[in-house]
Amino acid sequence: MRSVSLLGATGSIGSSTLDVIRRHKDEFKLHAIAACKSVDKTVGIIKEFKPQRVALFDEESAVKLKEILKEKNLYTEVLAGAEGVEEIAGDGASDIVVDAIVGAAGLKPVLAAVKTGCVIALANKEALVMSGKIFFEQVKKYDAKVLPVDSEHSAIFQCLPYEAQENLGYCNLKAANVNKILLTGSGGPFRELPLDKLKDVTAAQAIAHPVWSMGPKISVDSATMMNKGLEFIEARYLFNATDEDVQVVIHPQSVIHSMVSYKDGAVLAQLGNPDMRTPIAVALGFPERIASGVEPIDFTKVGTLTFTSPDFNRYPCLKLAMQASKSGQAATTALNAANEVAVAAFLKEQIAYLDIAKVVDGVLQKIETAELTEIEQVLELDSKARTIAQKIIGEL
Ligand code: NAD
Ligand code: MG
Repeated sequence: MRSVSLLGATGSIGSSTLDVIRRHKDEFKLHAIAACKSVDKTVGIIKEFKPQRVALFDEESAVKLKEILKEKNLYTEVLAGAEGVEEIAGDGASDIVVDAIVGAAGLKPVLAAVKTGCVIALANKEALVMSGKIFFEQVKKYDAKVLPVDSEHSAIFQCLPYEAQENLGYCNLKAANVNKILLTGSGGPFRELPLDKLKDVTAAQAIAHPVWSMGPKISVDSATMMNKGLEFIEARYLFNATDEDVQVVIHPQSVIHSMVSYKDGAVLAQLGNPDMRTPIAVALGFPERIASGVEPIDFTKVGTLTFTSPDFNRYPCLKLAMQASKSGQAATTALNAANEVAVAAFLKEQIAYLDIAKVVDGVLQKIETAELTEIEQVLELDSKARTIAQKIIGEL
């Protein structure tokens, strides 16, 4: 029996993770959950899985949750605020901590989990984009183990040899005779929209992803391909890769979830239906394969698979992310913060779709890109970049 703590339990990845755990109740026990403020969903999870502890970031929601649990005679301990979420993540009582919080909010909790030396199943790519180098230093120091949940990184992971899988953050791609990592992306809902129409794209259109069903922020990121940019940076850290080692390929059908090309000309790919329960099951079960509830692909129904290079005129956010990756951790932290602020403003219809890239670019031009060595410096820059982003939005 392995015990699991699930951060971001009420979200899209959270629900898929619960569904995998539900299928393996004799193998996994949910020790603790954390979420932002969805009280009703949290009550539902507590009723079904009876975790020992829960933390809600939003203090008022935590008070409400406490009252409801008392009425229902449910004895889960309730914690509140950012400290509560960190306490849940770092209490050391779990073998596996799944970080499925969205955005920078997932960083401090996951670092608290790393300190317990557990297995980290990482969906929260923003944490790595902000702190990759420092994060993996901590992973080494506390002998934690990272397993990717992001579908592309799970695919790459599955196509790498065991020594590399066992050593994420420090693996040696050259020694494994890897020629290139091919990071695939669907290109989002506006892949074929005439470029002059992009300015009119609405939030509702952007969150209706053609293939994957996901939370609102990552859906917008998929439309702009900032998601692929963040994943480019994520791949560099996870697989200890250079910018040149990773190539982004547009593959609209999302049948192949990414590939690894080897020196001998062989290219290994991982294929499957677009359902996050597969990469979640890979991370929870590793090194074993466990059932996820996902049907295998019916290849007689797949049709044609196509591949193209991304057009940076259509996806300026991808270009900005790749440039930030070259520049270093300060730039990637600022990029992530600016993007979070810009996407939130776009979802609230305060800025237009094309403004997202403008805000990110504006912030990147204004920050200093000195090397960050401490997590406090990362958080300080994150906050500074957010302030600059808000200012740019105000001036648009
Ligand atoms: P979502 O918006 O559906 O869920 C986010 C979760 O985080 C919710 O449970 C929310 O309550 C919680 N949360 C937000 N702020 C919090 C805070 N301050 N403290 C504690 N909990 C907080 O998002 P999602 O689509 O599930 O994505 C989660 C993460 O996984 C993101 O980093 C995303 O990039 C990554 N990811 C998602 C998918 C996908 O298919 N949805 C695929 C790959 C990677
Ligand atoms: Mg992904």
